[in-house]
Amino acid sequence: MTRPQLRDDLVDLEGYHSPQVDVAVRLNTNESPFPPPSEFVDQWRTRVAQVEFNRYPDRGARALRAALGEYLGQPPGRLFCANGSNEVLQTLLLAFGGPGRRAAVFEPSYVLHAHIARITGTGLVTGERQDDFHLDPEGAVRLVRDEAPDVVFLTTPNNPTGLVEPRETVEALLAAVAANGAGLVVVDEAYAEFAPWSALELVSEGVPLVVVRTYSKVWSMAALRLGFGVGPDWLVDDLMKVVLPYHLSVPTQLAGELAVAYRSERDARVAAIVSERERVSAALSGMDGVEAFPSGANFVLFRPVPLTLDGHVVWEALLKAGVLVRDFSRRPRLEGCLRVTIGRPEENDAFLTALKEVLA
Ligand code: PMP
Repeated sequence: MTRPQLRDDLVDLEGYHSPQVDVAVRLNTNESPFPPPSEFVDQWRTRVAQVEFNRYPDRGARALRAALGEYLGQPPGRLFCANGSNEVLQTLLLAFGGPGRRAAVFEPSYVLHAHIARITGTGLVTGERQDDFHLDPEGAVRLVRDEAPDVVFLTTPNNPTGLVEPRETVEALLAAVAANGAGLVVVDEAYAEFAPWSALELVSEGVPLVVVRTYSKVWSMAALRLGFGVGPDWLVDDLMKVVLPYHLSVPTQLAGELAVAYRSERDARVAAIVSERERVSAALSGMDGVEAFPSGANFVLFRPVPLTLDGHVVWEALLKAGVLVRDFSRRPRLEGCLRVTIGRPEENDAFLTALKEVLA
């Protein structure tokens, strides 16, 4: 057999890599540590049992978009739903990126932006964050003015650093894109519900902005894969031209539609995680030999200091103690860094105890 070769531009592509190890305490992928309410799961099961399995789903996901639009205070025409926010990001790049076009990213940030850009044949323009991981708004605007990228990605709160960008930075990027006369700003808000503000309030018909959100975190629905973009009607129409027909299964649409009725339970889960995040951040900051970065998300980035202490060795030792966190220690710009997802109080305690022992 002559083995078909991967596309020339992808031969050295590394797949997405985040080890899923079976350990007692899994704090590595920013999932919710809490399941959704059992009443919601029962209701969803009942509705799934009534599905006409021989029929395709509603292509327009109308019931889901109506319920979600009502929840967000947005017209349903501004909502594009897909299998996780990753598929929303991919559809955005298929529609507005692609060969001959370029996307700007500010590193370190969510690896999938650069990864999906590459897979869709979109060129990359890379801006750098400052040493404390904050974005320098003037530098970012200069990059957009000089390079005129077709798509500008901004993640806030940023993953994996946790930092929240101010509204002024989003507005400055929008102004730079407007001055260029072309381009789309994508604000990836996978963690916005844990943060003090959201760019959702900036979405309007005349603004080239899309805000991307997910059900994977605050809605405790990572298993079902549902994410959405909120942008002008014309953008949603363009995305619908590009995405595969019937891409969103009936069980997923139903889950998204029913979940929003359980908003007070969701708010309680978010509040519990934010309060635990503050507790874990304070404990990390008070620990000798640890530098912790401020977070507006459901995770905290930290590193052993001095930097001669190898982050990867600490990661391995934590794993040995039954606690899995995410290892970014060998990634450029994130030397030595590990990221811990906020879990249930007893999981956070197990992490803090293990880390103290490892560092001792
Ligand atoms: N954006 C960011 C910034 C993320 O951290 C993640 C999840 N790790 C996603 C998007 C993708 O989430 P999902 O596809 O589960 O909606």
